[in-house]
Amino acid sequence: MAVLNRFAGARAPANFYSSMFNYYALWKAFSSSSLSSEVDLKSTLLSRSSSSRPDLPMDRNVQWVFLGCPGVGKGTYASRLSSLLGVPHIATGDLVREELSSSGPLASQLAEIVSQGKLVSDEIIFDLLSKRLRASEAKGESGFILDGFPRTIRQAEILEGVTDIDLVVNLKLREEALLAKCLGRRICSECGGNYNITCIDIKDKEGRPELYMAPLLPPPNCASKLITRSDDTEAVVKERLRIYKETSQPVEDFYRKRGKLLEFDLPGGIPESWPKLLQALNLEDLNHKQSAAA
Ligand SMILES: [Zn+2]
Repeated sequence: MAVLNRFAGARAPANFYSSMFNYYALWKAFSSSSLSSEVDLKSTLLSRSSSSRPDLPMDRNVQWVFLGCPGVGKGTYASRLSSLLGVPHIATGDLVREELSSSGPLASQLAEIVSQGKLVSDEIIFDLLSKRLRASEAKGESGFILDGFPRTIRQAEILEGVTDIDLVVNLKLREEALLAKCLGRRICSECGGNYNITCIDIKDKEGRPELYMAPLLPPPNCASKLITRSDDTEAVVKERLRIYKETSQPVEDFYRKRGKLLEFDLPGGIPESWPKLLQALNLEDLNHKQSAAA
């Protein structure tokens, strides 16, 4: 059970939070239309949003976005928070993978894009997200934690046009730790388990511990079957980080200007970071507390 202190009392204004129907219609309108320019898109969003109903109940769960460079552990923290808060964790990377392994309408198109190493277009991402949100709605879920989206200013603008984002958490880890962490990743070739063989122990000038991340060692039956992802090389990881920084900076600025960005420097691995993250979010993990007290 989670206690939400800071955000429970401060519901977002209603003007943009139109009915779920409008919401999906907007995603849909964007994803399936042949809008030729940003201006067209904006006018479509504006005309649609003017029909939103301010009288609709505000009773909904958090709508958060998680930002963070590849390898920072964004998925792990987003997933933990989503179980704590009872909202779906929607990772666009997962949506793409699920669609690829399905026989869905976009699977073959996606397979081609991915095999060519191209970025999946906004249109496809919106289509997948809209499908996922409809599925959530059918299950009676509300709110979400988005992971891997928005990735560009354009996506952030579209998202802003269709719903309110309450908070954007930007997870950060210093580059040397990030690099070491990415290079230490191993996958079990048999069960697909993810591990990390690197122990990060960065000390300051006086030799005092500054950042510690324990390795995540595999159980004995996986240990002999570990493989490294072919793209986890120093050059590839550095290039990935460079590209991430370049594209994420404007998205961070976008939310910073709106006062929605929460910068969070990870102080270490999950045991060090999780309680501090909850503190920063003004959340309490009662289950954790109770089990710790028992
Ligand atoms: Zn295994």
